Amino acid sequence: MAKLRYIVLHCTATPEGREVTGDDIRNWHLKGRGWSRVGYHYLVKLDGSVEQLHLHNSDNQIDPWEITNGVAGKNDSALHVVYAGGVSAKRTPGTSVFSPKDTRTPAQKAALERLVKRLLEEHSSAKVCGHNQLSNKACPSFDVPQWAQEVGINKLRVL
Ligand SMILES: [Zn+2]
Repeated sequence: MAKLRYIVLHCTATPEGREVTGDDIRNWHLKGRGWSRVGYHYLVKLDGSVEQLHLHNSDNQIDPWEITNGVAGKNDSALHVVYAGGVSAKRTPGTSVFSPKDTRTPAQKAALERLVKRLLEEHSSAKVCGHNQLSNKACPSFDVPQWAQEVGINKLRVL
């Protein structure tokens, strides 16, 4: 059992405009990667609806049953939130790759703000951050501290 330190924001790294369901994520992580748990606690879909993928309680500890697989090395101290999207709709010309892009819909932005504010309120020990602040990744394809400031989250609660 460890202290809850991070509310980590992620993207699914799927093309702009494509919906992702909780079942998709379960398939990718449990069947595809063979993990025993999914990577995230919450999924924010294109229309702003939120699907809870893994349970957790509202204290400031992460118990073993609450752990998901979002960021290697940090999972025993984190809750993970993912939004559907995060890369361009089309591949970069001449390559097979999609480029990182903030594809959040207005509904996703509003839902993310509500969810993150609620989680910070419930968990006084946690700070919000992007996956890219903990690992060398593009995820979640937007600047979390800048966004947190824009939506009025106290900077003491931002990593
Ligand atoms: Zn991530």
